[in-house]
Amino acid sequence: MSFYIMAQNFHRIQLPREVLIGQGILDRIGNVCVQLSLEAPALVLSGFHTQDVAGKRVVSTLETQGYKTAFTLLEGSTLKQVANVTATIKNTSSKFVLGVGGGAVIDVAKLASFYEGVPFISVPTAASHDGISSDRASISNSEKKPISVSAQAPLGIIADTDIVSQSPWRLTASGCGDIIAKYTAVGDWELAHKIRGEYYGEYASNLALMSSKLIMKNARTIRLNRAEGLRIILEALLSCGVAMSIAGSSRPCSGSEHLFSHALTLISQKTAMHGEQCGVGAIMMAYLQKRNWKLIRETLKIVGAPVTSEELGIDPELIVEALTLAHKIRPERYTILGSDGLTVNAAKNLARITGVIN
Ligand SMILES: [Zn+2]
Repeated sequence: MSFYIMAQNFHRIQLPREVLIGQGILDRIGNVCVQLSLEAPALVLSGFHTQDVAGKRVVSTLETQGYKTAFTLLEGSTLKQVANVTATIKNTSSKFVLGVGGGAVIDVAKLASFYEGVPFISVPTAASHDGISSDRASISNSEKKPISVSAQAPLGIIADTDIVSQSPWRLTASGCGDIIAKYTAVGDWELAHKIRGEYYGEYASNLALMSSKLIMKNARTIRLNRAEGLRIILEALLSCGVAMSIAGSSRPCSGSEHLFSHALTLISQKTAMHGEQCGVGAIMMAYLQKRNWKLIRETLKIVGAPVTSEELGIDPELIVEALTLAHKIRPERYTILGSDGLTVNAAKNLARITGVIN
C-alpha cells in the first residue's frame, strides 16, 4: 500500500500489504503470493543455516502453488552481494524476491529487488532487528562498515513463530535491545524538534515508543521463548518498520543509542550484535535524557541481553571512546549528545554510573 500526504511538501509512505505472524504459517506463503497477484518466476534468497530451517521449504511450497522458483544461497550483506543478486534477478527474469533468513538475507533481498523494480517478501527466521519490516536496508560498504540505504518496504511479511523460536535466543534478545532503543530514539527526536525545529511526527513517534513500552511490559513473557512472547516482539518490530516508513526516515527508531552502536562498530575489531549494542547505548542515553534508564537495564537483564561492556565482550576503554565519538557519526542527526559530544571524563562517568563499566 502506498499513499501520499499532501502538505507543503508531500511525502510518500510505503507499507506492507499482507502480514502474517503466528504459529505454523510458513506453508501459507504460496497462497499469500497468489493473493498478492504475484507472477512467476520467483527468486528465493536464503542463508547457509536458514535454508534448512525455512528456505528450501519455501521453495517447495511455492512450486506446489505452481510458481517456477530459483534459489540463491547468500552469506553476508555487502554491496557486491547486492550486485550479484541484482544480476540473478535479471538472468532468471524473476518477478518477485523472497528473503528467507536473518537480517543479512533480508537486507540484500530488499535492496536488490528495489534496484530491479520487483516486489519483495520478507520471511524472517529470527527477530533480531527492525529491518524485517522497514523500507531501509543495512549493507556493508567496501570498508566492511554498515551503511543504511533507503530501499522499499516489503509487500508481504510472513513471520512464523515456530521458525523464529528455533533461532538462537541471543538473536531474539538482540531484537528486544533494538526495540527498547526506540525509547531514547524518540526522546532525541523530540529534542531535535524543540531545539532545531526539525520535523517531528507524533504518530510515527508514538508507534515506535509504544513498541519499546510493550517490550518492557512483557519482558518476562518474552523470555519464555514461546509463541505468545515472540508474537509481541515480531509485532513490535513490524510497528518500528512502519514508524520509519511513516516518518520517511529512521528518526523514530534511531537516535544517540544507535550513534553509539555505530561508533563502537567503527572503532572496535570485536563487535556485538546490533541490537545488543543499541540496548546498552539506550541505558546510557536514557540517563542523559533524565528518563527511566533503570527500567531499560532491568528489561534487558530479564530478556537476557547484555547490560555491561563485559557482557558485550567489548573493552571498557572502547565503550568510553565510542561515547565520545558518537555525535560525529551523523552530525545532521541532533541528539542528547549535542553538537560537541561528551568529554572523556563525562563519558567515563556516564558508563560507570549506569553500570556499563566498572
Ligand atoms: Zn536498529
